[in-house]
Amino acid sequence: MTAFRVRARTRAYGAAMRVPDVPDGGPLTRMADGTIKQVNPLTGTQVWTVPGRAHRPLRATATAPAPLDPAAAGRLCAFCERNYLRTPPEKSRLVRRAGRGDGGPGRGDGGRWEVLENLPAERLDDTVAEFRRVPNLFEILPYEYWRANYGYAPPAAAEAHRRAYLASPAGRAHVLAVVHDRLLAEGRTEAEWSAMTEGERLALSAAFFAGGHDLVVARRHVVDGATTDAELASAGTLTPGEHHHFTAYTAAAARSLYEAIPYARYVAVFQNWLRPAGASFDHLHKQLVAIDERGAQMEAELERLASNPDVFNDAALNYAITAHLVVAENTHAVAFAGFGHRYPTLEVYSKSAHNAPWEHDDDELRAVSDVVHACHAATGVLVPTNEEWHYRPVGVRAPMPWRIMLKWRISTVAGFEGGTKIYLNTIDPWALRDRVVARLLGLREQGRIAPMQIGRECPAVPGSLRYAAG
Ligand SMILES: [Zn+2]
Repeated sequence: MTAFRVRARTRAYGAAMRVPDVPDGGPLTRMADGTIKQVNPLTGTQVWTVPGRAHRPLRATATAPAPLDPAAAGRLCAFCERNYLRTPPEKSRLVRRAGRGDGGPGRGDGGRWEVLENLPAERLDDTVAEFRRVPNLFEILPYEYWRANYGYAPPAAAEAHRRAYLASPAGRAHVLAVVHDRLLAEGRTEAEWSAMTEGERLALSAAFFAGGHDLVVARRHVVDGATTDAELASAGTLTPGEHHHFTAYTAAAARSLYEAIPYARYVAVFQNWLRPAGASFDHLHKQLVAIDERGAQMEAELERLASNPDVFNDAALNYAITAHLVVAENTHAVAFAGFGHRYPTLEVYSKSAHNAPWEHDDDELRAVSDVVHACHAATGVLVPTNEEWHYRPVGVRAPMPWRIMLKWRISTVAGFEGGTKIYLNTIDPWALRDRVVARLLGLREQGRIAPMQIGRECPAVPGSLRYAAG
């Protein structure tokens, strides 16, 4: 134990000495004792990294892995592939047909991929969904929010889907069972359920067909061939081709939510991985939530953008390059260790002239997906993370790049942060860079991530975000 402590200390000082000089007045300041003070150039968030706190273990509590019961395969949680009826009726699914392909939407990845929409309940088990788009049973903003505040009425296509789904006995039974589960989860009793007419029960299903909070759920709960429940299938365990489909399918779902809910000013897209990061199940899924505001952070970014249309180059990428924080890059995307975030954060920027995710062409989308996938793989399956998409909201004229933040939820925001609004972050950006670059090199060696440039190999050209050139 003692030997380990001494080594860890030496490493900590060694790491501090590798921190390059940073320009005065920028987002990063290094104090004489090694404390790093960070200010987010876009949001103003203040973060400190104090030496000595940086080498605490990433995973505080490790539960012992339990062996998997073969009888429970495909039924580990409500998102699993043999539990299709435990979610509300799916809006669509992405399936893989037999055949050969070279990877990516439209090109196949180990087969030809196809989107099936509005499947009736009777046909859910005819195919295996690689990814499914389903309504969230517990919406952040309920259907009633849009109806009561905006006079929202379901689009004709959603109404038609609902009528068709309920017309079949299996569809009707499925919907009633899910409404029943939700009411009981909300604290209603069996007696109250019994007192309701079928019409009252079915009326509660409107949100399943016309709500504004969807999930994109991946097929696997654990990796293929897993023997314990610890071998979870995270975004980083997908193949780069599967991750590309996951990203493209999610981008298309975001666009369709704007079309379904015309009052939406933004569709938030995110992925919570593991319970400490807010996930209900340890089963990979993304979330899409239509909201009627953009949020204070986006408004702050829009203000900075108004005074400097090139702020994402000037204040984010160019500074990351100056401070040697770039970790990975390919033709259309670049990732760096971020600064001024409450949690250690990898920032992946699209270099494309296209702004919204769904405006990216297939090569551009694949490039962004490859770098995000590699960041997940380098993070590892045991670290709770939030993946957050940021992009230009509808109705905003100023160009804005698509960027994805991957936040390591390894610390708990506590009283110090609440009282001061200064956040303590246990890993400074250079320590994050070193950790991630080392892992990326190993993963590339093993062929587990797509080809890309890593660390010092990256071209890292200032001004290479072309979002304002479109
Ligand atoms: Zn599951």
